[in-house]
This record gives sequence, structure tokens and C-alpha cells, in this order.
Amino acid sequence: MTSPRPTASAGLDWDYAPAPESAAIGRLRDRYQMYVGGQFVDGRGDDVKTVNPATEEMLATVSTAAAADVDVAVAAARAAYDGVWSRISAAERGKYLYRIARGIAERSRELAVVETLDNGKPIRESRDVDIPTAAAHFFYHAGWADKLEHAGYGAAPAPLGVAGQVIPWNFPLLMASWKIAPALAAGNTVVIKPAETTPLSILVLAEIIADADLPPGVVNIITGAGDIGAALVNHPGIDKVAFTGSTEVGRQIQSSLAGTGRKLTLELGGKAANIIFDDAPIDQAVEGIVNGIFFNQGHVCCAGSRLLVQESVAEEVNAKLRARIATLRMGDPMDKNTDIGAINSATQLATIRDITDTGDAEGAERWTSPCPVPDRGFFFPPTVFTQVSQSMRIARDEIFGPVLSVLTFRTPDEAITKANNTPYGLSAGVWTEKGSRILGMASALRAGVVWANTFNRFDPAAAFGGYKESGFGREGGRSGLSAYLNTDDDAGVAAATPAGAPAALGLPLAAPVPGIAAGAPGISAGAGSRSDELAVAEALSEAEAVADAAAVLADAQVAQSVADHAEQVDQSIAAGTAQSAQRISVSKTYKLYIGGAFPRSESGRTYQATGGPDGTILANVAQGSRKDARDAVAAARKAFKGWSSATAYNRGQVIYRIAEMLEGRRAQFTDLLGGRTQDTASVDEAIDRLVHYAGWTDKLASVFGSANPVAGPFFSFSTPEPTGVVAAIAPQHDPLLGLVSVLAPIITSGNTAVIIAAQHQPLAAVTLAEVLATSDLPGGVVNLLTGDPAEIAPHLAAHADVNALDLTGAATTLRTDLERAASGTLKRVYAPAAHDFTRAPGTARMRAFLEVKSVWHPTGAVSLAGGGGY
Ligand code: NDP
Repeated sequence: MTSPRPTASAGLDWDYAPAPESAAIGRLRDRYQMYVGGQFVDGRGDDVKTVNPATEEMLATVSTAAAADVDVAVAAARAAYDGVWSRISAAERGKYLYRIARGIAERSRELAVVETLDNGKPIRESRDVDIPTAAAHFFYHAGWADKLEHAGYGAAPAPLGVAGQVIPWNFPLLMASWKIAPALAAGNTVVIKPAETTPLSILVLAEIIADADLPPGVVNIITGAGDIGAALVNHPGIDKVAFTGSTEVGRQIQSSLAGTGRKLTLELGGKAANIIFDDAPIDQAVEGIVNGIFFNQGHVCCAGSRLLVQESVAEEVNAKLRARIATLRMGDPMDKNTDIGAINSATQLATIRDITDTGDAEGAERWTSPCPVPDRGFFFPPTVFTQVSQSMRIARDEIFGPVLSVLTFRTPDEAITKANNTPYGLSAGVWTEKGSRILGMASALRAGVVWANTFNRFDPAAAFGGYKESGFGREGGRSGLSAYLNTDDDAGVAAATPAGAPAALGLPLAAPVPGIAAGAPGISAGAGSRSDELAVAEALSEAEAVADAAAVLADAQVAQSVADHAEQVDQSIAAGTAQSAQRISVSKTYKLYIGGAFPRSESGRTYQATGGPDGTILANVAQGSRKDARDAVAAARKAFKGWSSATAYNRGQVIYRIAEMLEGRRAQFTDLLGGRTQDTASVDEAIDRLVHYAGWTDKLASVFGSANPVAGPFFSFSTPEPTGVVAAIAPQHDPLLGLVSVLAPIITSGNTAVIIAAQHQPLAAVTLAEVLATSDLPGGVVNLLTGDPAEIAPHLAAHADVNALDLTGAATTLRTDLERAASGTLKRVYAPAAHDFTRAPGTARMRAFLEVKSVWHPTGAVSLAGGGGY
């Protein structure tokens, strides 16, 4: 199947000799079983056939799960968590991971062959990138297992319990190791489902896991299609969900998990811009473009699928690119000389054809590599579209194939605007000789990874993950670990057991697990103990009760103050003093605080707010509306650029100044809260909290960023960045301290905020707005709305320009609805199960609204090598 290599010179008609790897090395069996509870077992689903996409021949049959098998696998993972994994020492856990890393290395060629046969990717890539990087992930995370207390998440970070993980077909073994290794290192157990079309390499990994004597049930591998993935992520016995795949399915998962309190990380699609400036080393850039889009046939979420070339070099780049692409060899993936392998499935091939057809229809110019296309198997030749405009589908949709769309730009600003003009935000590439431009672009690009003068570099030490609709959460590095730890220090960490200490959590075994009997050596069912889920539910209903109680109390205060007032009038009439003799104060109507100004609500409605020492009615406040919410988001968005690019020192100064001003109004705020001793204490805590966060602004990068010791001649660093516009519901109690505790961590890192104040006690918030308006805080950085969260918040949750939600003050039913609405645009959601603002704050609130961006640059010469660092 080796294709003749097009020759540049007619006189030199040479070609590579075929260099096929032997399929026998893969030691394929006719049939594969699932791996549950330490046993290879048949699932109750129908067997499926897995085919070689390069030949369309059947490779093996694979047993698959039915929903009942998901129950069994989750129960096995729970039992293993309770009985063994949470009880053994962290150092022991690490040793198991080292064993698995070794096992992968020892069977690396076999795994590479299996991966290539099942997936269609060139053997050169599975051998040199996928498998070594998979081993490296286990090795890296093995080292974390006994050092979690140094990861920056507290002295005794606790695991979450059972992780449910779903992975796609593009890097089957690599994605499995990205998921399993950190979960296990952090002390969790795992149930994982591979894609239906690529189950084989993870089932070989199951053998390696078994050979490593990993306790039964710590890793469970169930096979099947999307319905089994859905059953897994929605299973009530799961504590954490990690998903890699399409944005559409990610959205569904976020929606279906709304209100469950379960931790979720999503690694979704992308439409990365690879930006070539006119001062770039063009030949190297061409290599980077080729690597960026044709590595793994373009089945890469971070593929550089949009090429942005500076106009002055566009012609040169296009010509060189076509010449280079014409030399790529497409064909037998098992041939070590093959550059472009097979598309993974007939379905994916049809998708690529469908989207590229729209490119023709919309007027783009298609160029196809002249390489021969094998007559069997699923192949799509390297394709480049020019004359592409931003509105075309080929420039917007993730094609997930070897297809490049070329756009041009004139100025760096235009490049930034075009690069960021996508709902995705996973990765980007920048090619230029100018160091300052690299760093400037890296900071302006809204993407989780920026490769400068290189592309498609991965390393377990460097965080990887998306901005915007490319998902949330990171994999790799220190921030990747946090996805599997209970790092929510809002109410003081952690219901769960420190990773490495004995556990008392768990569900009883729901069904007998093959190979596991309750009471069997090394494993127990943990019957009768409390589940995390129960704890979360309890905490939620407690929070709801507090919120409801506050509302009821406020209503009671309203009722009481009305009654008191009536009584006063009665008394004055009885005493013969005319009511008109009393001074009636000028009634005050508080407006909203948007963009640094105080507009009236568009709703034209107000409601009465209470406050003061005796809880009398003090003022009318605006009932915010949909339009107000939209205005506030627009103001926050407008302010984001300036606030996020202000120096950390500057932001710290501004926040400190707010504290100073609050100190000057200490007595007024105390009165507003009720004038009691505890109210003074609460105001003092609010002031101190601002001081606390003011001191964080210039520490964030050093605490949450890192220099990444990646392999190869690269310097890589990860740095935290603000998420964007955060919409929050302030707690219904603690109207000042709660508000400040929500607001300050959002703006500390450069986000801007739209906050709905405590509905029934909004006076502290509206008075704080007066403080903010006269402080140095730029207008629009904080926008305060008053009114009923149930009326306003849905508009914020559905708003495309809101990047994240903080649901601290939302009652349970509203919280679920909002989480569901947030999934529409894949907003980050912070919805702590409980919070206690009287405790010293942790870092969870800041981390919730931080993205981590990894930047790579070659050291010394610009890298010509392909993807992967091993
Ligand atoms: P999917 O999102 O459909 O599948 C990813 C994984 O999720 C698979 O294991 C799949 O099972 C499973 N799954 C499917 N539906 C559900 C569900 N409702 N709940 C839980 N799990 C589910 O992606 P595809 O593999 O079909 O790829 C389609 C597109 O996704 C690609 O064209 C590309 O745009 C994008 N993609 C992005 C990836 C990335 O790394 N970011 C990786 C892969 C795809 P099964 O496949 O067995 O049906």
C-alpha cells in the first residue's frame, strides 16, 4: 500500500522502500473482555467488532457493557476505594503507578502496533509519541502520590472518591493515561470507558494493570458506545466526572450533571489559529504548520486548523506549504515511512467530506495534495483551503481531519481578533522571531496552550486544557491534579479522607462484583458508611435552609417593622401629637450599579429593603431585569480588557483602597447590618478580607503558575489568567461579608463581575456600590444588581458573554436550573456545597475563575521535530 513519493526532480526517481511494522507484534486476540473488579469479564451488552480503518478488516470482537455492568463497575470502584485504595499509604499508591509506567514501557512496541491497527494513526506516531507519553504520564503522576501536600492544595488534600471517565478515539491509550494516572495518584478509583471504535489498547493496558497487581476495582474498564458513557457519567455512585470528546456531548454532560454537586472537567474541541508573522523563520514555520494540522490526520483537539498568515508573506507561505505537503506520504499506517494514516472511521470520514464540501459551496478554493489515495480503507488526502473568510463553516467548525483553512491578516491586532473569533479556546501557535511579540501574543490569545515557534508539544508536567467552549479543567501539571482532589476550601476542606489516610466513605456494593466478595482479602464493601453524595446533598440542603431561613427572617423583619411603625403612629395620635410634626426623612431609592454609574432599572420596579439597628424599612431598591443583566454584562466585558491587563500591583492597590474606604465607613456599615457587636465583627472581617485579597494579586502567578520541566529542548511555563466575565449570586446571609468574599476573589485575578446582591438585605451592597464608585476601581469591573435572583440570574447563565458563574447564593432548585443553562455555552460553574465566610479563605474561589495557560518555546534553535516530546 506504500504510495510512490512525488519527486521534485525528474532525474531523481527515487522512493522509500516499504518498511512495514509486523502486525504480529500486536499479539491481537480474537476476542477481548472488559476489566472490572480486577477480572476480565464479559459485559451484558452485545459483542462489537472493531475494524482496522486502514483496511476495513475486522481486528477482533469486543464484549461490551449494558447499564447493569456500569453499576457493577462503579460498585467495584467504590469498594476498592473504601477498602483498599484510600487506606494504603500514598507512597504505596505511587509504587503501583511506577509499575504501570514500567509495564507500558516494557510492552511499548506491542501497544504501538495495537494502537495503529485499531486507530489508523501512523506507527511512527504511536511508537514515538502516544505510547511514550502515556508511560510518562504514569511516571510523572506516580511521583505526585506521596507529595500531594506540596501541590499547593492544603496540608492534607483529600481525594474525591470514584472517578467516572470517558475518552475519545483519537489518542486512545494516551487519553486513558491522562485520565487514570492523576486520578489514582490523588487517591481516587476509576471507572473508564474508551470510544467504541478504539477499545483495544486500553484493554492491553488492563493486562498491564493486572500484572502490576493493582488492587481489584481500583481501575475498571468498561466498553460500549455513547449510551454507556452517559450511564457512567450520570451514575449516582460517581464523585467526579472527566470527559474528553466533542463539545456537544460535553455540553450535554454539564447539563445532566447540573445540581448534582459532582466535580466535572471537560476537554473538548478546538479550532486553533496558527499565526505566521512576516518575520517568522518561514521554512520552520511551514514544518510547524504541517505538524500542527496533519499530525494524527488532524484528529487532534488542539490541531492548528486555521492558518493565519501575514499578508506580505502569504504567497510565499502558501507556495512552500503546498510543496511540502505534496511530499507527505499517505497510506499504510503500519509503514514506518507513512506520514498520514487512515481516518478512524467511516463516520468521521463522512463528516470530513461533508464539512469540506461546504467549503467549496461557500466559495473557498480547495487544494488537495497529489498523493495517491489507497483504494481500501478510510483515507482523506491533505487538503488546504484558501480564499477563506471567517464566516465560512470550514473556518468555524472543528473538522477533525487533515484539512487546513488559510486566512490572512495585516496587523498583530487583526491576527488577535481573528484568532480569538471562535467559541473555542484550546490552543494557538505563534511564529515570529520577536520575543516581545511572542509574549504579547501569548497573553492576548484566549487559549489554554500557546506554542511559540513550535506546535503540538505535550508533556505531563505542562497543564493542558481549554478556555471558553473548549472545556474547563486542566490535565497535567499541578493544576491537573486539582481535578481529582477536594480542593474546595470554601467551608474548610474536605468531607473526604486525606489522600493516603484511612477512609470512612462509601456506598455498599450494589451488586455482586465478579471477583470481589465483600470481606475478601484486601477489599471490603464498606457497608453502612456515609457517601460523599449524601454529604453533598446534606450540605446543599443546609445551605438552602440557611438561605431560606434568611429570607424568612427578612420577611419577618419586614412584617415586624411595618407593625412597629403602625404602632408608633397609633401612639402619636393617642398622645395628641400630629404625625406631620415628625420629620419624615427623604425617602431613598437605590439604583443599580452598572459600568461605574447608577442607572435606574429598566424594569421600572422596586422593592422595599430592610436594614438598620431595628430592621425598619429603610429604602426602596431596584428590581433588576433582563435588560439590566445584559447591560451589566456589556459593562463588565468592556472593562475586562483594561482590568485584566492592569498590573498585578495596580490591582492590589485598587482593592486595598476599597478596604481603606470601607474602614472609613465602618460605623455606617455596622448600622446597616443591625448595629450589634457581631455586625461590627462582620464589617471588620469584610475589610480584612479585602486586604487579604489585595495581597494575592501579585502572588497568583507564582503560586498557580509553574516552570514546567518538559522533555526536549523547550522552555515551558504555565501561567494563570482570568476567565473573563463572572456572574455571581451573593449569599443571602452575611450581606456584606458574603458579598465581599464572593466579589474580591473574582476581581483579584483580573476578572470582571456582575453580582446579584442578597435579595432581602441588599443595603450593604448598594452602599458598597457607592464606595466602589468613589474608589479607584474602574467602572464596569464590578457591577451590582439588586432583585430576585430567580428572575435575573437565568439571563446571566444563558448569556454568551458571561464566562463563569458563581452560584454561592443560589437556592438549590435555582442552582440546578442555572447549572443546566450554563452548559449551553459551557460556562465554568462554581457552586460550593457549603461555605463559611467567617473562616479564613482558601484559594478555591480564586482558582474557580482562573485559566491556566501553558506557553512553549524552543531553547536554542527553532524546533523542526514533529509532535511529542519523547
Ligand atoms: P464524542 O464526544 O461523541 O465521543 C467521545 C466519547 O464520549 C466516546 O467514548 C463516546 O462513546 C462517548 N460518548 C458519546 N456520547 C456520550 C454521552 N451522551 N455521554 C457520555 N459519553 C458519550 O466524540 P466523537 O468521538 O464522536 O467525535 C466527534 C467529534 O468530537 C470530533 O469530530 C471532534 O470534533 C470532537 N472530538 C474532540 C476530541 C478532543 O480531544 N477534544 C476527541 C474526540 C473527538 P462512543 O464513541 O463509543 O460512542
